[in-house]
Amino acid sequence: MIQYHPYSILLAVSAFTTLIVLFIVRRRSAPGSRALQGMLLGMCLWGFFYALSWVAVPLEHKIFWLKIMYMGVVMVPGFFLIFILRITRRDDWITFRTLMLILVEPALALTFLWTAPSLFFPSIELTSQGGYAILEIRRGVFFWINTAYSYTLILLSFILLGISYRHANSFFRKQYLIIILGSVVPFVFSTYTHLRPGSSAEPDYAPATFGIAGMVYAYAIFRHQFMDVIPIARSRLIENMSDGILVLDAQGRIVDINPAMKTFLEEEPASLLGRKVSDMIHLWNGNADLLLNSMETRTELRFPNRTSRYLDLRVTPLYDDDQRLSGRLIIFRDITDRKEVEKDLRHAMDRLQTQLIEIGVLQSQLREQAIRDALTNLFNRRYLEETLERELARAVREIYPLCIVMMDIDHFKDVNDTYGHEAGDLVLKTLAETVTKQSRQGDFVCRYGGEEFVLVMPNITIEVAKERVSSLHRSIASLSISFGRFNLNVTMSMGISWYPKHGETKESLLRAADRALYAAKNGGRNRVVVYNPS
Ligand code: GH3
Ligand code: MG
Ligand code: MG
Repeated sequence: MIQYHPYSILLAVSAFTTLIVLFIVRRRSAPGSRALQGMLLGMCLWGFFYALSWVAVPLEHKIFWLKIMYMGVVMVPGFFLIFILRITRRDDWITFRTLMLILVEPALALTFLWTAPSLFFPSIELTSQGGYAILEIRRGVFFWINTAYSYTLILLSFILLGISYRHANSFFRKQYLIIILGSVVPFVFSTYTHLRPGSSAEPDYAPATFGIAGMVYAYAIFRHQFMDVIPIARSRLIENMSDGILVLDAQGRIVDINPAMKTFLEEEPASLLGRKVSDMIHLWNGNADLLLNSMETRTELRFPNRTSRYLDLRVTPLYDDDQRLSGRLIIFRDITDRKEVEKDLRHAMDRLQTQLIEIGVLQSQLREQAIRDALTNLFNRRYLEETLERELARAVREIYPLCIVMMDIDHFKDVNDTYGHEAGDLVLKTLAETVTKQSRQGDFVCRYGGEEFVLVMPNITIEVAKERVSSLHRSIASLSISFGRFNLNVTMSMGISWYPKHGETKESLLRAADRALYAAKNGGRNRVVVYNPS
């Protein structure tokens, strides 16, 4: 008992079209896409079951499909409102309470439709037209309440969309316009259905135009990136953050931009919308290929307009559920402060490094100073005490002799008295140099007292030592030290002691050398004397 009324075919085609669009929308995760899916599902049910009521022939069947159809009818306005709230970013309107409020009327309408249908349709009769069985419906009070409610929601949605349209930039305007265009067609036909003169409820033209609305949405999706790359998904966070943000679509067009981008640009951010980012990447000295490959990339650049400032540019590719590149997110961050701190830190480190080196040099100088005499630069007495002990221990261990020579300048007091203290200092320095120069590697010379030096010669026989000391003695005697217009001549007395023969400790050896020196002085000065225990 069915009939194929042409209108039922038109309705089926329309319902099928909305179904296809529904599946396209399902692949998008943009805000509003779920509400849009809900609306498209409502349209699809509405169109499909309305078609069935035209296909059915018996009255009861027709009425049955009509009632089923109402499930779709009541879905459309509510979802349309939520959809508009979402895409115009009035998310804070969508609370649990408003959702419940939107739901109350459809729930009541469906309940009354099934329990008290006469309140909706006081009479439904079957008539025949052109050989087809069609309905003649009278509309009751609840029908009109439901219609008024639906129109209220839809008109409210249009108003909100209109308000947003006025404040939107051209990119969003185009999208809003397409949405208005798609939605207004069914609305106009629905209005015509209800207001045409002498009308019955049949036929309702609105569901036949849902397919057109669906096609307009599909056009928006494919041609204008509608629901594509979150042009609508800007959260307050992005609006208010200090980092600049650009959202690109898969083709590299700028589809979203946040207010902070202004700091990184010379032009108004809004004027960049829709333009290719590769055309302006040079603005940030960037290499477009590097930034726009399909990997997460990060580079540090200088600001194009203020080269003293640094920019951190991060590109994150966005992938959809099927792992297809759907766009990119570019984040601009001013990292000048961090860079500055890094630079300061580096400088501080360099300074520290230099200071460390200086300290090292100072330390070794200090160490030298602690063991050397300032005037003659010979080792001091403390060094002698320490080192002589070590040298002796080694001589014992390795079984070799060691000689100590103690020397004292003869009548040095007279030099000071006659030529002055400076002349005395000069003599001290010159003699220290001479002794040092004539000592072997491994020997060491110290300033033992005012004008007394000690020369330590490890691993030397007494014969060789005597020879060397005599030679040193002679060269000192032959020195002529010029001081101003004077030439100073000095002599030294020297006493030699010898390990192991004259002692085995440093004290006994020094004492022996001192005795020998004393003997040299007593013997008339200017001579070398080897210690003789007797
Ligand atoms: P002798 O032959 O007996 O050693 O006679 P001397 O005059 O050399 O001995 P004395 O101990 O009487 O005098 C040592 C002098 O050396 C006394 C001091 O003024 C001088 N003298 C000591 N240290 C320095 C110094 O660093 N510089 C100068 N110019 N003189 C010094
Ligand atoms: Mg002296
Ligand atoms: Mg002396």
